Amino acid sequence: MTVTTQDTAESVQLVVLDMAGTTVADGGLVELAFDAAARGLGVEPGSADHAAKLDYVRATMGESKISVFRHLFGDEERAQRANAEFESTYGKLVADGRCEPVPGAREAIERLKADGRRVVLTTGFARVTQDAILDALGWRDLVELTLCPADAGGRGRPYPDMVLAALLRTGGADSVRRIAVAGDTSYDMIAGRRSGAGVVAGVLTGAHGADALRESGATHVLDSVADLPALLADAAGENGRPAGHPEPRT
Ligand SMILES: [Mg+2]
Repeated sequence: MTVTTQDTAESVQLVVLDMAGTTVADGGLVELAFDAAARGLGVEPGSADHAAKLDYVRATMGESKISVFRHLFGDEERAQRANAEFESTYGKLVADGRCEPVPGAREAIERLKADGRRVVLTTGFARVTQDAILDALGWRDLVELTLCPADAGGRGRPYPDMVLAALLRTGGADSVRRIAVAGDTSYDMIAGRRSGAGVVAGVLTGAHGADALRESGATHVLDSVADLPALLADAAGENGRPAGHPEPRT
């Protein structure tokens, strides 16, 4: 075994993919479920209060949902009520068939695995919602590990905890530099950079646009996760350096 700190020329071994907006298209279910949660606490759609809270939900998309509700509703009891209503509504919409894979996402995951990479799916939702999505898509056995915030200490994004938990649970990479993170939100990019991942790819199939993703640290912006397998293959093979580090590090 060769031990080196010059691992930047090595290929990505572990890929950590966000679900909603990145691999799963949910068609705005987050906002529908938020409406139900807000209404349960007396915040009616159409009100200024609702508009301000919805802006916050959009800006923090990707964050642990209970954290979002703690910020919006203050005390723990109200936050828990909002979260429960959110998760319940979202789960029902998913069970009704209101989510589907991002086009090419399943094939991309299978290609990543065929290329010898390990793949983990992460989310800001609670486990019950994550499982509802996996069941609706028939994805229970697609990857070896799925993580929600509670599986990694509870903080969720923008902390790097789920990415690092993916590494610790799978033993899937020799170094954090050999991890790739992909997501559709600023918080995915921040979490990816904080984890030390060598590739932090933003995708344009979800919540945030290219400028927001780059400002939050994206090393790459892709039209879709469907482009990720080729990016990682190119990064490892063509220039001998991982994507995101065009200049050799010394
Ligand atoms: Mg997302």
